[in-house]
Amino acid sequence: MTPSPLRSYRRIVVKIGSALLVDRATGLKRDWLAALVEDIAALEQEGAEVLVVSSGAIALGRTVLGLGKRVLKLEESQAAAAVGQIALAGAWSEELGRHGLKSGQILVTLGDTEERRRYLNARATISTLLKMKAVPVINENDTVATSEIRYGDNDRLAARVATMMGADMLVLLSDIDGLYSAPPALDPEARFIPVVDRITAEIDAMAGAAASELSRGGMRTKLDAGKIATAAGTAMIITAGNRLHPLSAIDRGERSTFFRPSPNPVRGYKSWIAGQLEPAGRLAVDQGAVGALLSGKSLLAAGVKRVSGNFSRGDTVAIVGPDGREIARGLVAYDAGDAVKIAGLKSAEIAPVLGYAARSAMVHRDDLVMGRAVMAELEAGAGG
Ligand code: GLU
Repeated sequence: MTPSPLRSYRRIVVKIGSALLVDRATGLKRDWLAALVEDIAALEQEGAEVLVVSSGAIALGRTVLGLGKRVLKLEESQAAAAVGQIALAGAWSEELGRHGLKSGQILVTLGDTEERRRYLNARATISTLLKMKAVPVINENDTVATSEIRYGDNDRLAARVATMMGADMLVLLSDIDGLYSAPPALDPEARFIPVVDRITAEIDAMAGAAASELSRGGMRTKLDAGKIATAAGTAMIITAGNRLHPLSAIDRGERSTFFRPSPNPVRGYKSWIAGQLEPAGRLAVDQGAVGALLSGKSLLAAGVKRVSGNFSRGDTVAIVGPDGREIARGLVAYDAGDAVKIAGLKSAEIAPVLGYAARSAMVHRDDLVMGRAVMAELEAGAGG
């Protein structure tokens, strides 16, 4: 089945990699940007809402400041981002303005998508911008982000934005034209994959190591983005951005990989849980608990074999089956210290250990999302 044309989607997030927008020697690639914006304007004309996630602040700042190729210290890349971002936003606003489109800059930090209250806040602002017919131009706030508290790559940031805004399409414009069975730079036999129905372990293995490509994230973070997006019902396309008019090129049939959205997407609150970037801990559970979770029950302390990580009540944890595979994610009802104490205990045994009458669910089913791959296998099993 050929995927539908880009213009048939209603809310499209377009992520642009730094290398596409910025030339180390000459700075911003204006002609390329102008051509991309023509594509965006055409989609808007057709009634789609386009959101831009634009990288390039650090790369552009580096050029403007004449910092060359050397490795930058954290505070230098933050300063470069400050210089680059102002120019980047200016260029977007100018180019979109040529087509009568307004734009608004949103700089987000990790907490803006990972903390529930801030997530709702960011979503409200971006929704309002869309209502006001302004194109949101989004980037990470690199000037304040430090390594422990940042996305680091705009692939996953764009996926979080896409699911937060209920987008039906996420396009990653990159320096590679799609997914291959192995990194093509390393393996001349690598096969091109035009459509991915589901990101299975086999697909996951195709990414190779993150360091195998030039771009910041490489294929690894693109597949991570794909998992976040497709699980929430957002389709994703990876295609090469290094030609003029890279968006209309997709509809003209230029090479791209299409990732089909899940037929049973998780929405709203649960999609926020499922897309959390870094679980704060892991709960290893027994086979009995796996069965209970698959049938839609809560995770009880009795089924937890091992607790790792230093999490607080309300943090996201990964739930891992006896084979070591992540089967679900959820918001944990206990701090790590208490979780360790009650792991394996029956409900009646918990209060004496903790000294207070506590809830018996370690993760309540309302706060729990099963992994897409696990559910798909279950459905396949039930069907055959
Ligand atoms: N936020 C970074 C920047 O604007 C880019 C991150 C990425 O390349 O994924 O420079």
